Amino acid sequence: MDEGKDPQAAGQGEAGAAAPARIPARIAKPRGGGRVAPNMPDPDALCADFDWAQAREALAGLPGGGLNIAHEAVDRHVADGRGAHIAIRWIGKGGDRRDLSYADLAQAIGRFARALRGLGLAPGDRVFVLMGRLPELYVAVLGALKAGCVVTPLFSAFGPEPIATRCEMGDARLLVTTPELYRRKIAGLRERLPGLKHILVVGDGDAEGPGVQRWADVVDAAAADAATAATDAESMSLLHFTSGTTGRPKGAIHVHGAVLAHWATGRYALDLHDDDIFWCTADPGWVTGTSYGIIAPLVCGVTNVVVEAEFDAQVWYEVLERERVTVWYTAPTAIRMMMKLGAGLLAGRDLSALRFMASVGEPLNPEAVVWGQQAFGLPFHDNWWQTETGGIMIANVAAMDIKPGSMGKPLPGIHAAIVRRGDDGHVAVVDEPGVEGELALAPPWPSMMRGYLNEQARYDKCFADGWYLTGDLAKRDADGYYWFVGRADDVIKSAGHLIGPFEVESALMEHPAVAEAGVIGIPDPTVGEVVKAFVALKPGFEPGEALQRELLGHARKRLGAAVAPKSIEFRANLPKTRSGKIMRRLLKARELGLPEGDLSTLESDEKK
Ligand code: ATP
Ligand code: MG
Repeated sequence: MDEGKDPQAAGQGEAGAAAPARIPARIAKPRGGGRVAPNMPDPDALCADFDWAQAREALAGLPGGGLNIAHEAVDRHVADGRGAHIAIRWIGKGGDRRDLSYADLAQAIGRFARALRGLGLAPGDRVFVLMGRLPELYVAVLGALKAGCVVTPLFSAFGPEPIATRCEMGDARLLVTTPELYRRKIAGLRERLPGLKHILVVGDGDAEGPGVQRWADVVDAAAADAATAATDAESMSLLHFTSGTTGRPKGAIHVHGAVLAHWATGRYALDLHDDDIFWCTADPGWVTGTSYGIIAPLVCGVTNVVVEAEFDAQVWYEVLERERVTVWYTAPTAIRMMMKLGAGLLAGRDLSALRFMASVGEPLNPEAVVWGQQAFGLPFHDNWWQTETGGIMIANVAAMDIKPGSMGKPLPGIHAAIVRRGDDGHVAVVDEPGVEGELALAPPWPSMMRGYLNEQARYDKCFADGWYLTGDLAKRDADGYYWFVGRADDVIKSAGHLIGPFEVESALMEHPAVAEAGVIGIPDPTVGEVVKAFVALKPGFEPGEALQRELLGHARKRLGAAVAPKSIEFRANLPKTRSGKIMRRLLKARELGLPEGDLSTLESDEKK
């Protein structure tokens, strides 16, 4: 196709300015796939032919029928003679390392499932997990799935209130945590949570209260022989809360059948091969850390690296080098932090094992894709999905040219479209390339949520005329690549233009002083809304009027006067969710003195 037609590259739409030469419109992939032949050498051909039955055939299913995530992720590999392969390589905060083979993991989850039965939990009962990335977290999630229980992993940094509301809403029956977290966060909540009958604490330390028992006494002492519960594709598996970026978090209900999508996306979007060493940096408190930090890599039979420590560029680079990570899945916020520190920190590291890097969670600025190539010799492959979709939907896959700034194309089995909602509640598909509208997906696919817990009306609102409406605005180019514009709630309407914050933030990111940017609309009597940017600077740059003028000028040159911010405010950090998403709604509420809404997922120190 004519590359000049790429909406982002050509600044089509409102922008009207070409991207700087340093950001190529396209990063071509070696034909034939480079070092390792991709699982999907011809994405378009597979998309045309794909049927979810192919994914089901690749999996085992339970003896006697049925489907269970834990069986596909663990027991199946042992039965196939791969029990000695390392399933989880855990790296503790102090640098200590523990390997669990698939056979070890099968034993451990068998014990956990047996222990749950011993405590009287039945299939369908809710098991919550609140702890750092310790090996027991992985055993608990998979063991509970094996027992047919429904799992909700919570982020260990949550305060008592977000924990209590989620446990109440999700009807938590058993919680796995540590003694310290129990004392600090749970003990005071017990009266509010009468249904929470059992607490298992992992590790040493005091923890006392009704139903509190030690993991060592209950799980380690159990026999490892639990049979897998007779779940099927429609049995509920996980209850995952959304990030709360746009408002009060929703509890998305998922089912065991999602494992088909975990298998397919692990193979096709992340290109996992049997001997890969995979590392997903997300915490299992968020859906990425469960779908891709636990399930997909194990279903694909690879070695899954788990790093207990939080982000630290030196530690991360050390892990990549020492563990010889081959496939790495991370997020824009972390990439921007690495960019802020500079590629110099990578000097002298041998990262030759790394062959595929992917990113999710927020729009990935074109600048970041290109930085990946400069710093690691590989571009980051952006992909898009949501808690609701359960798995990756749109991706830049291994065999496909990357257009920096685009989230890629729909994966096999996924049908996407750009639609416009009419006042009558109906939607119309926008066929024309480059035209903005809401990103919609055609259900069903196996990992689609089956509901929002206790919120039928909120769930029903996500559907119209056979489409699932994602709440994100996007456009598709003539090659079928999708380009994120912004969340519907964040889009700015100014003098008849629809402005996506991502476009403005990405232009600001191209300036060498900018580490991070968050863009909002401020009500204006004349033009509706005017664009305002909040900017965090890289080390070595000082906020001041001169830099403000320079950035405003840079943005105007890149975006045109209609789209460029009218004002810029410097901030040491931008407010983010604990999963690392910029909370534009909070920037806006604070700017306008409006109620701040649900802040349960706000990262308290706003440092990242
Ligand atoms: P809430 O729905 O509670 O407001 P959330 O939407 O942030 O929170 P998640 O399900 O964790 O909760 O995030 C999904 C959203 O993240 C997507 O709808 C999209 O807005 C954003 N997102 C994820 N990946 C990408 C990407 N590659 N490019 C752009 N945006 C992305
Ligand atoms: Mg959402």
